[in-house]
Amino acid sequence: MSTCLIALDKVKKVFYTDEVETHALMNISLKINKGEYVSISGPSGCGKSTLLSLLGLLDTSSGGEYQLAGNDVSDIDKKERARIRNKEIGFIFQSFNLISDLDVEENVELPLTYRKDLTKSQRQQMVKDALAKVDMSHRGKHFPAQLSGGQQQRVAVARAIAGNPSIILADEPTGNLDSKNAEAVMQLLDKLHAQGATICMVTHDPRSAKQAKRTVELLDGQIIADHSTEKGTDNGNAAA
Ligand code: ADP
Ligand code: MG
Repeated sequence: MSTCLIALDKVKKVFYTDEVETHALMNISLKINKGEYVSISGPSGCGKSTLLSLLGLLDTSSGGEYQLAGNDVSDIDKKERARIRNKEIGFIFQSFNLISDLDVEENVELPLTYRKDLTKSQRQQMVKDALAKVDMSHRGKHFPAQLSGGQQQRVAVARAIAGNPSIILADEPTGNLDSKNAEAVMQLLDKLHAQGATICMVTHDPRSAKQAKRTVELLDGQIIADHSTEKGTDNGNAAA
């Protein structure tokens, strides 16, 4: 039996700037089950990052409903959003987003420090485990500038997984990496998925998209295709 982790129902996002209204997302309905590995693809400007920000509770929608792990999170206040985000979501960004004056261990620990349910020694153990998973234990006391791009992204992956989030959201995680480092990060995500992680990754690299088990295609703020890359079946989620 598959457990539904994410359910978006007719979600919209409109940006207002000066006189211009941008309908970045229109009526997005999407379900993601626990344990799935989904890639989101589509041309630049089609709404991929906006969708990921909404999924990750970094931003709020302009309409529609969002259920995360059975809870309606469409209308919660900022504080509650931050609390749920810290516990349930692990984010990986294209530009790594590590803090330059914190060392590797401190970077990985940072999101955990907002968790009131963890003690310092629990946090330290989680940092240790996460760095071991990405093979970066030996770099704990290094600063981001002392690491290659590929190593920085592995640290960012450790930061994302340290708190055992319900879902890992990755926005173009290999976009700033050469092909060798990109491949290493993709293999890492694959391994995490094999260990049970739920992953939703934005990519416009078709090779990366293929590693996911399901691809959702966006165009102009709408889902135009949703198919399983394993069996070639349709998931029935695409807009008609
Ligand atoms: P993608 O990640 O697929 O390249 P985005 O989600 O970043 O696309 O953007 C979707 C659309 O929304 C684009 O037209 C973009 O210009 C617009 N947009 C994104 N973020 C903002 C913002 N903060 N303010 C105004 N417009 C935005
Ligand atoms: Mg983007």
